[in-house]
Amino acid sequence: MNLILIGLPGAGKGTQAEQIVDTYHVPHISTGDMFRAAIKNETALGLEAKTYMDKGELVPDEVTNGIVKERLAEADTEVGFLLDGYPRTLNQAEALESNLKELNKDLDAVIYINVNKDILMERLTGRFICRTCGATYHKLYNPPKVAGTCDRCGGHDFYQREDDKPETVEKRIDVNLESTNTLVDFYSKRNVLHTVNGEAELHDVFKEIQNIIGDVEK
Ligand code: ADP
Ligand code: AMP
Repeated sequence: MNLILIGLPGAGKGTQAEQIVDTYHVPHISTGDMFRAAIKNETALGLEAKTYMDKGELVPDEVTNGIVKERLAEADTEVGFLLDGYPRTLNQAEALESNLKELNKDLDAVIYINVNKDILMERLTGRFICRTCGATYHKLYNPPKVAGTCDRCGGHDFYQREDDKPETVEKRIDVNLESTNTLVDFYSKRNVLHTVNGEAELHDVFKEIQNIIGDVEK
């Protein structure tokens, strides 16, 4: 099953991706996570990506297309994949399309998590993440069941993303607004787009996604 999650920063892609990969066992390919890992490991890719991420801008398409192309050629994607945060521009969507053609893979569904811009600031500035397993929480909307302990792995070490400060958050939302509409248009023309209401409660969003996956798996 080959899936893509699209939506503005804070729409809930990472949160839903966790549930999807835990349920359907496809590899989770998040370009944001790949860049953050490269920054942590101080690689050349990380150094380059950091200059854009710190400003809330997009990493150039050539760089991003290159890392996804390599990742999709790995053997674990034979069972499928879940792309999260990629593509983000028309150029990336077109590059992905030709890349998948070369790899003889089709897209089963592109799931657009639709959330109004005004809700996103509050979601992103309240987000925190488990350092051990990457699970995403929110201080008000999705705190761990036991304060200070990760529901998923039992870890106790959490962090806030550098780019979740209010100054960067606003820029990131603006940078993505237009391109997200372009992607919605691109995939709706290819008849693979499914829109879910991302303003609903977390578990209801996942139920909607499960219904979509159930339909495309038939
Ligand atoms: P994205 O990966 O799209 O940037 P996240 O999945 O990291 O977004 O979600 C952003 C923040 O919003 C997180 O703190 C998360 O816990 C919270 N969140 C995600 N989905 C919902 C929801 N449906 N309702 C309320 N808060 C949510
Ligand atoms: P995310 O974790 O998806 O919120 O992404 C964090 C940051 O990584 C973004 O603000 C961009 O700077 C960069 N990034 C992630 N995915 C992409 C992409 N597909 N294209 C360009 N930049 C990206």
